[in-house]
Amino acid sequence: MKAANRDFTREVNLFNILNSIRSAGMISRVEIAEKTGQSRSSVTNITALLIKQGLIYEAKGESSSARGRRRIMLKLNPEATYTVGVKIAAFRLSFAVVDFIGQVKSTLSIPFRVEERSEQSLADVIEDGILHCVDDAGLKLEDLSGCGLAIPGFVDSATGTCYWSPIKSGPSHIRKLLAQRLNTDVYLENDANSFTVASQWFGLGKGINNFLVVTIEEGIGMGIVVDSKIYQGSTGIGAELGHMIVVPDGEPCRCGKMGCLEAYTADSGLLQQARKLLSARRTFDFDPDTLTIEDVTRMAQGGDRGLRKLFNQSGELLARSIGGLIQIFNPERLIITGEGVRAGDLLFKPMNKAIKKYLNKEQGSATQILIQEWNDHDWAQGAAGFVLNEIYKSPLDKIHRTS
Ligand SMILES: [Zn+2]
Repeated sequence: MKAANRDFTREVNLFNILNSIRSAGMISRVEIAEKTGQSRSSVTNITALLIKQGLIYEAKGESSSARGRRRIMLKLNPEATYTVGVKIAAFRLSFAVVDFIGQVKSTLSIPFRVEERSEQSLADVIEDGILHCVDDAGLKLEDLSGCGLAIPGFVDSATGTCYWSPIKSGPSHIRKLLAQRLNTDVYLENDANSFTVASQWFGLGKGINNFLVVTIEEGIGMGIVVDSKIYQGSTGIGAELGHMIVVPDGEPCRCGKMGCLEAYTADSGLLQQARKLLSARRTFDFDPDTLTIEDVTRMAQGGDRGLRKLFNQSGELLARSIGGLIQIFNPERLIITGEGVRAGDLLFKPMNKAIKKYLNKEQGSATQILIQEWNDHDWAQGAAGFVLNEIYKSPLDKIHRTS
């Protein structure tokens, strides 16, 4: 075997071992060998190295006695390293510092209108937020082994370039700007993809081999997990459910096309339509431009028939889109989350009713559709989890050591 191949095999073995300890929480060497298909001697060698490097430890007093023999259990060392995740949303930046097993150590949220500010000032605020959050966790910047930035839009995660985002005009070079300031690896990823990684690690996707995530926010995002792997497409840009045409020649979308799902179901699209509807009413006595999506949701919940119709349409079109996804992917689960779930029954009642039209009984019953309450810090934890995932692939190179 050539040296490069040998190194690669070792990295894969190491990742599989770490991952099996992570997903089990606590596991013996024999069970790791059974789970990963590696020889017992390979597992013994690699786990010895991981113990030496402080990434895992033998849990004293914990042992399994399968088949009459006592087995020492291995656990991940949560303090092996830390990462920080930052979710960049249209009006807010959220931060989370997590340890090596993804436990949140500190969080922070800062109101910030991304569109109105330069990349330099965005980098300034993110840098300050990270410093604050790291300090809150009782850590130093040098304790971090990486920073993950999650942004909606077309992101090439391999190069860390954001080509287009609904919250920012023009390509973004925020990753480069922050890498210079933080002196650590900085990753830029599509927000729905990082959330999907987090679901796989800590959330409703844990232990599920095939699942989809649909996020409803200013835009509509999507994450796809097939055979336990995130699908990123041929160019790394991934899935953009929001820009699938659901109404030919329909409402204009921010991406330049007409009739995208986003123009009907995302916060931005619903708000746009609500403004149009309300400003046409003679009895409407305030400036529609100051209207927020929260106002629109409240008015619809209060019984405004015109607005309820908009939510109905939005739920119907969402059903049409996810019905198509379920037919293509046949996933075990489809998780819907994001700020847009605030609409509750206004959106999901018509969606649940309409989805029956788009799926036959067998297709429908194979997939569990779950609505997950939105939490600001889930996204930041997701961005940090994305970095952990990268670190697990080659921890010996990527973990930053201060001592
Ligand atoms: Zn579009």
